[in-house]
Amino acid sequence: NLYLQFARNFDERPDTTFLDTVEGHCYTFAQTRTAAGQMASALRELGVAPGDRVAVQIDKSCETVILYLACLQVGAVYLPLNTAYTGEEIRYFLGDAGPHLYVCQPKALETARELGKQCGVPRIESLGTEQDGSLMEQARQCSASHEVEPRAADDLAAILYTSGTTGRSKGAMLTHANLASNCQALAETWRFSADDHLIHALPIFHTHGLFVACNIVLTVGASMTFLPKFNAEQILDLMPRSSVLMGVPTFYTRLLDSERLNRETTASMRLFVSGSAPLLSETHSEFSARTGHAILERYGMTETNMNTSNPYDGERRPGTVGMALPGSEVRVTDRETGAILPRGETGLIEVRGSNVFKGYWKMPEKTASEFREDGFFITGDLGHIDADGYLCISGRDKDLIISGGYNIYPKEVELLIDDMPGVNESAVFGVPHPDFGEGVCAVVVMQPGHQDSLDEAAVLVALSDKLARYKQPKRVFFIDSLPRNVMGKVQKKQLREEYAELFA
Ligand code: ATP
Ligand code: MG
Repeated sequence: NLYLQFARNFDERPDTTFLDTVEGHCYTFAQTRTAAGQMASALRELGVAPGDRVAVQIDKSCETVILYLACLQVGAVYLPLNTAYTGEEIRYFLGDAGPHLYVCQPKALETARELGKQCGVPRIESLGTEQDGSLMEQARQCSASHEVEPRAADDLAAILYTSGTTGRSKGAMLTHANLASNCQALAETWRFSADDHLIHALPIFHTHGLFVACNIVLTVGASMTFLPKFNAEQILDLMPRSSVLMGVPTFYTRLLDSERLNRETTASMRLFVSGSAPLLSETHSEFSARTGHAILERYGMTETNMNTSNPYDGERRPGTVGMALPGSEVRVTDRETGAILPRGETGLIEVRGSNVFKGYWKMPEKTASEFREDGFFITGDLGHIDADGYLCISGRDKDLIISGGYNIYPKEVELLIDDMPGVNESAVFGVPHPDFGEGVCAVVVMQPGHQDSLDEAAVLVALSDKLARYKQPKRVFFIDSLPRNVMGKVQKKQLREEYAELFA
């Protein structure tokens, strides 16, 4: 049981603060154990049995972590949901996952009870950010249980739904061994110790904020401060008493906008990690010029936890996601034949190891089709391994553009556009084209104050001698910002839909 990996710290450093928030809430390790034990008793009273799913859609708070720990303790399967999901979406997830208990925000309790009845969910309770809600009240009445349900390595600890960037979200079944091994590999690779203090400004319904951030801290007995959401000034305030920040690329571009970001404010920080979406090389170099810190980029996904990381000691190479973590293997295969490709050639990124999930919830066929016979999982991302062994991601297989029978990797075109003067960022995607199957299309976001320095014709001229004709965009549009989800992922599906009629 993963809980036991964490519980060591509850005994070893009971009076140390484990978790606090910018609003002033605080838990020591001993208080964490007691609160989780009370919550575990409440879950048992509600009839939550080992293997039962507990669906959770609540705002980020210390008690969310307590509930997560209690679920592990009783052997339940923790199932967090994006707080942005609304009625119809929740109905899908509840129907799909069949939880025994659904925990919602206090203000949503009545509608949730109605929905729960329709979806056949036996228990609906609420948990708020001010130690309020029906579940919290019940837990407060309970005495703390110290019983930890024995779990086998491949019993489920959590089901996490993928972000839904490429289609409907799929439930990834994650085992105790998946989670336990990955946070250990990360803690070791990133040199975590009990002395670390993490600034936690990510949502905790995704792998990044929950399993990467919280599980590492819990495993090594470090501490962290929760922010409800990203706030550059609050993060800068926390830096002098912190050592690590984990963020998505937009955290770093927004921190760079603050004049307070410099060598002095970041002096006590030892590590800045970026992931969930590609970090621009430019952000990497600007950040190191301003602070002296090289951002460490890593690569992972809901199904696999983390796969690769740039080295802690060696060169952190911008535009790459580094090498396989201990316990994981990475290879690149041909999209058509499945043959393993030599270094330098672009194809499907596949991974194998103790980090890789057990399969998609209730989707045995989908699971089977994404695994090779030798156990490698086909990530759906494309990339190549460079001469020094660094993995470079070139985008998603589903975003690959096929025009006139030729493959076009959007990243190749995006990097050239991003290099043009005044350009902030860009996205290249394919839309249906009557002659070519798909036509290449680009949207460009200019830096503030440079809106007039480029137009469509200038972009096309600049690309004309750098790219083969079939790779050149047929149209270029200027927009204010790229559509992104909370994790900073560019929503290319949305762009494709918006421009679907372009060549019709
Ligand atoms: P869905 O699978 O439902 O379409 P999703 O793939 O966006 O959604 P997640 O599991 O949250 O859901 O995201 C994993 C993906 O995020 C990876 O497959 C990869 O495309 C992207 N990603 C993660 N880290 C990086 C990184 N450092 N650089 C580039 N892409 C990254
Ligand atoms: Mg995915």
